[in-house]
Amino acid sequence: MTLDIPTLLVVSIFVTAVLGLLLIFAWIQDRSIQALGWWGVAYLLGGLSAGMLSLQQFIASTILIDFSSALLFVACGMSWNGARVFDGKSVQPFPMFAGAIIWLVACQIPGFAESSIGRIVVSSLIISNYTLFTAFEIWSGRGERLNARWPAVIVITLHGVVFPSQVPLTMVLPGDRIAATLTNGWIATLAIESLLYSIAAAFILLEMAKERTERVHKEAALIDPLTGVNNRRAITEFAKQILARDVRPTKPMAIFMFDIDKFKSINDTFGHPVGDKVIKLLAATAKKTLRQTDVFGRLGGEEFAAFLSNTDEKGAIIAAERVRLAFLDAAKVVDGLAIGATVSVGVTFSTNYKDEVDDLLARADEALYEAKNSGRNRVVIRSESNAHVNATSIVPDMHAAISRAEVTTH
Ligand code: GH3
Ligand code: MG
Ligand code: MG
Repeated sequence: MTLDIPTLLVVSIFVTAVLGLLLIFAWIQDRSIQALGWWGVAYLLGGLSAGMLSLQQFIASTILIDFSSALLFVACGMSWNGARVFDGKSVQPFPMFAGAIIWLVACQIPGFAESSIGRIVVSSLIISNYTLFTAFEIWSGRGERLNARWPAVIVITLHGVVFPSQVPLTMVLPGDRIAATLTNGWIATLAIESLLYSIAAAFILLEMAKERTERVHKEAALIDPLTGVNNRRAITEFAKQILARDVRPTKPMAIFMFDIDKFKSINDTFGHPVGDKVIKLLAATAKKTLRQTDVFGRLGGEEFAAFLSNTDEKGAIIAAERVRLAFLDAAKVVDGLAIGATVSVGVTFSTNYKDEVDDLLARADEALYEAKNSGRNRVVIRSESNAHVNATSIVPDMHAAISRAEVTTH
């Protein structure tokens, strides 16, 4: 197969420019992912560099070649910075231009400028370094799970390793003719490998950005912004899942509904921002106190709910009392203010996986209503079997004593 370098260059210019525009359009659509802008401009610079190189057919100028390489190195530096920005790191302007500067300075050294082998070695190493550092940055952000992250690391690392493979060849093949042959072969290989790499990398980077956007949107749709816990939608969705998965006639699920007592007066006395802090405090306290597997979240206002798999009446009393007591303690003083907030909890159960989440919440709400009516700052349980609101309402004075004893052993 003969690779026609001018044709390859034209294809490269076109493809990198289109990919660059694609990345920039993706960035315009979602400005929150600035890395797309960096990568887009890097691609356009890469295309421009290939364009300058192709002009060589018409204008025989070493300056043109030197600058086209320098531009390519800046593009590589920008891709690396893009990867940093993608993972929330700072932009590093100097290292971004370092490759181009080293190159342009080296090109002023007569011995280097005429040595095609020297040029291959230095340019390969510059590109390879930037590429491997880009892969490293993407790898170092692996704490954020994105399916496209590993393909990105692998493809970019491969390019970083394959690209300078000509370097050892230049070491073992001395002689001007061989070097000249290698130079031609090298440009062709470089052009086609880089082209394939550019296409793969652009799509993988776009996919990574898309995955992040989807994750952020999904989170926004499911997370309550004030407290960072599940919102009503998430509670309903996750509760449905654990109902279907865990509830059996012998394995009841406990449903809690929490409501901060006299919250209106907390807002009125201490102001809305302090009220918000109390809401956040209940969210944090309950989250810390409940099991990780329990579904917990904010229904709205100062109302929260929890779904506890495999929890019988005794277990429910212990769990609900633990939250109530922990909040009682934590909300005594908030921001140096003696708030003394308390919470009431309504509890119900399900042993039927077909139960509707809203029906269960309504039942827990009835128990909560009882808790409010019977004095607040308490846990009231309503058993599943009894249809009457007051059927199994438990006065905490009696049960809390038992619970407290058990709580302290936890
Ligand atoms: P009860 O003991 O019967 O629950 O009395 P309450 O005062 O807590 O009664 P209610 O549930 O009617 O009051 C809820 C108040 O919570 C009303 C509303 O202004 C306030 N609220 C709702 N959402 C927020 C919020 O996000 N932040 C703050 N600070 N207040 C909120
Ligand atoms: Mg309320
Ligand atoms: Mg309330």
